[in-house]
Amino acid sequence: MDYQSILEDIDAQVRPLLGREGRVASYIPALARVSPHRFGIALRTCDGEEAAAGDATTPFSIQSMSKVFTLTLAIRGLGEALWQRIGREPSGSPFNSLVQLETERGIPRNPFINAGAIAVADRLLSQGADAKAHVLEMLSGLCREPVHIDAEVAQSEADTGFRNTALANFMRGFGTLDNEPARVLDVYFNQCAIAMNCLQVARAAGYLCRDGAHPYDGTAVISETQARRVNALMLTCGTYDAAGEFAFRIGLPCKSGVGGGIVAVLPDRLSLCVWSPALDPTGNSLLGRMALELFVARTGLSVF
Ligand code: GLN
Repeated sequence: MDYQSILEDIDAQVRPLLGREGRVASYIPALARVSPHRFGIALRTCDGEEAAAGDATTPFSIQSMSKVFTLTLAIRGLGEALWQRIGREPSGSPFNSLVQLETERGIPRNPFINAGAIAVADRLLSQGADAKAHVLEMLSGLCREPVHIDAEVAQSEADTGFRNTALANFMRGFGTLDNEPARVLDVYFNQCAIAMNCLQVARAAGYLCRDGAHPYDGTAVISETQARRVNALMLTCGTYDAAGEFAFRIGLPCKSGVGGGIVAVLPDRLSLCVWSPALDPTGNSLLGRMALELFVARTGLSVF
């Protein structure tokens, strides 16, 4: 398949629509300054073939796409014990919702809503290592390029993260978190503020289409079963209350972030990242979703 010309065609189709619909996330002030006139797309196949188009090498804030990688670290460190405090069901609610936590006694529905990712960050802290450094090291190792945290975005998140602070305090009250909320949130805000480009993300997610094997050296990042589970969670929970719509329209495990990125995986074939900052009301990239629909329509690739 000529992936390069497919991605270029998608770029040509999407580019005239930039800036027309959707809104850049504004609740994190540092993200509100990003231009909506950006679109990038990149993929890497399991055999190492790569293709990229548009702004595929422009760094952006990976935001909740980071939750895939922190989950991977937590699964690797804790195995099944991780699920004692975090569920595996779609929430059907916005990513920052507090309501289910009350009735479900502080156990987040899944690791991809904010509450769940904050609980994962707590687990990483309890594992002892410097959690922030650990995440950066993992991502740099996976994409074979240095990766850094955008300090301005991290500070902006910390300054305005009132809902996340509420979620962390609430879970601490229920005993879901072992560590002080401020320490846990520091990990969470910083992981969300990591800057990467589409090509780097597509490379980094390569282990998810290779049964858990590192995209470059083939060593086990996680086991085959664990990789399958991360993909299952991405399909059912990765795009929040739009997960059903994503499965219906695209049919690939996906994880979005409010920076406008979406990482998608087709097991045994490829990993893909699209980026366009303007979001739909569910916090998913509007043109990113459209680009994924075009990709699936054009290639016929989907898990279904
Ligand atoms: N940092 C963002 C938040 O906590 C991440 C949300 C997202 O990307 N969906 O609100």
